[in-house]
Amino acid sequence: MPTRTYDVIVIGTGAGGGMAIKTLCDAGLKVCALNSGRRLDPAKDFRNHRYSYDLKYRGFGDPRKRDQYYHVENEYTAGLWEHGIAYTVAPGSEWEWPRCHAVGGKTNFWGRSAARMGDIDFKAGSRDGSGPDWPVSYREIAPYYSRAERMIGVASTVQNRPSNPDGDYLPPMKLRCLDYILQVGCGKLGIPYLPDRLAQLTAPHEGHPACHYCGNCGEGCDIGAFFSTPWFFLPLAEKTGNLELRTNAVVRSVLVDSDTGRASGVAYVERDGKREVEVYGRAVVVAASTVESARILLNSKSRQYPNGLANSSGQVGRNLCDHLYGDTGWGYLPQLLGQPSFPDNVSASQVVWMPRWQNLNDPHEEKFVRGYSIYPTGGCGEFPWYAENLEGFGADLKRNIKRYYPTPVAFYCQIPSLASAANYVDIDPEVKDIYGIPAARLHFQWGPNEILMWEHARQVSRDVIKASGGEFWGAGDKPNTPGYSLHETGTCRMGDDPKNFVTNRFGQTHDVPNLYVGDASVFLNCSDKTTTLSILAFTLRSSEHLIENLRQGAT
Ligand SMILES: Cc1cc2nc3c(=O)[nH]c(=O)nc-3n(C[C@H](O)[C@H](O)[C@H](O)COP(=O)(O)OP(=O)(O)OC[C@H]3O[C@@H](n4cnc5c(N)ncnc54)[C@H](O)[C@@H]3O)c2cc1C
Ligand code: SF4
Repeated sequence: MPTRTYDVIVIGTGAGGGMAIKTLCDAGLKVCALNSGRRLDPAKDFRNHRYSYDLKYRGFGDPRKRDQYYHVENEYTAGLWEHGIAYTVAPGSEWEWPRCHAVGGKTNFWGRSAARMGDIDFKAGSRDGSGPDWPVSYREIAPYYSRAERMIGVASTVQNRPSNPDGDYLPPMKLRCLDYILQVGCGKLGIPYLPDRLAQLTAPHEGHPACHYCGNCGEGCDIGAFFSTPWFFLPLAEKTGNLELRTNAVVRSVLVDSDTGRASGVAYVERDGKREVEVYGRAVVVAASTVESARILLNSKSRQYPNGLANSSGQVGRNLCDHLYGDTGWGYLPQLLGQPSFPDNVSASQVVWMPRWQNLNDPHEEKFVRGYSIYPTGGCGEFPWYAENLEGFGADLKRNIKRYYPTPVAFYCQIPSLASAANYVDIDPEVKDIYGIPAARLHFQWGPNEILMWEHARQVSRDVIKASGGEFWGAGDKPNTPGYSLHETGTCRMGDDPKNFVTNRFGQTHDVPNLYVGDASVFLNCSDKTTTLSILAFTLRSSEHLIENLRQGAT
């Protein structure tokens, strides 16, 4: 039987892969998508409609296994996160790397905060002198943001903020009582307190139902009322008849034609049975998420590319960035004491944010460069998260928990790291995963700029609680481990100069014209905004560039 050659092979079905798959299939191209895990069945795999007291370990999971869980994992999602594929962390570094290898990747469980980046982010390098600019302007990418927003549905308001370009929005989520109080406190301090940009449907959208606020989005949505690729993009791609999705296909490397040096296909290992398979295509899109995409390229060594594929610049794996997350303050609002709770059930949703307000006019106004945002949380959640901050035991403790419900509030920060030579991914020469694929090794530490912002955010959170008439209880004494935010970016940065950048502005690698990168690897850094909407916008643009090139026979 002759070997089939697909038009495009896409590695990964998360935000980046999903967008590439849908766009390429819509254009009539024959796509083979490879995903390292299985498909999820929302009816069985999303267990969020069970009360924790109906679960054996009350939702926390088996105590004998709990210390192996990632922070995003619990009894509801046990088994849905990847633990089989090893990675290592270099001495002196810290990194937690929760991966969801099911079809849809992390979009199955993401937090849905979906803000646009702007020129304050893309041109930050020339603004403050720290690192290169992105090779695109906001004007160039804005139409792709609009199209991505329309596809996924984002709820928010037009805010006219200098750091956060506005988009095309569904109605915002309603503010909670606590938001009205904190908004006044923030107002006194000159800090914005606004509806977040949230890819959670406040109204029916593009055939998807509106959210009914059941409240546990972190365990997956069984009606598809927030954007994920298995609910939104993959069914559309499958409907075209142009998609072949191979699941449990763990990619080892991208194959190269030894004569032309062009990408010719992909080698993968079947999860069950560990059979080695090769699949061939006219072009390849690597969209396995930031760290994994770098790992695949670095593992794609050949005679022509002894340092890994698309790596003549030596930049593959470099410039790894992440959001520093941490609890910057918590306390309670006495104004709400005795208020009846009502099932707002949006406490699992990022209703509001305090978008970047630092260094807007002068990039060196503060002791740090760039800026961060803060997310306030609280409300009528099912579980009283603040219980561990209260003293007492038995009935007394329970009374106390009830007394404070629903007054407590908490804040966590979203602080972008600056690209640094110290932060990168390489291949561990000693360790292979269970499929015989050399493991990724993470090198990462928070830098001084991030720590200055963290201290600033702690002070701000305390000030906001007090200015709102609240009582401050405490704050985290150190940031979360790097990797915690799940917002990693960098490792295949884009830029015009092939000597210093891995891809061009379209995600097309400089060295191998029929190889594209379709995830946050191409970002030059992270910003105070989340990553996924930007992954969608940039990958939409890259995919259309690839389509045009294939049409013209230019790749
Ligand atoms: C709890 C949580 C909260 C989050 N909150 C937000 C938020 O509020 N806003 C935001 O913007 N982002 C948020 N994120 C991050 C967001 O989910 C990611 O930015 C986004 O999913 C990244 O898309 P991706 O395509 O790069 O990677 P992923 O979604 O991780 O998808 C990668 C895909 O590649 C596949 N893959 C990996 N390795 C291989 C291999 N070797 N072979 C074959 N396939 C492979 C995986 O199976 C997976 O399908 C959150 C994530 C989580 C988990
Ligand atoms: S709150 Fe809404 S989006 Fe979240 S799981 Fe429930 S229905 Fe889905």
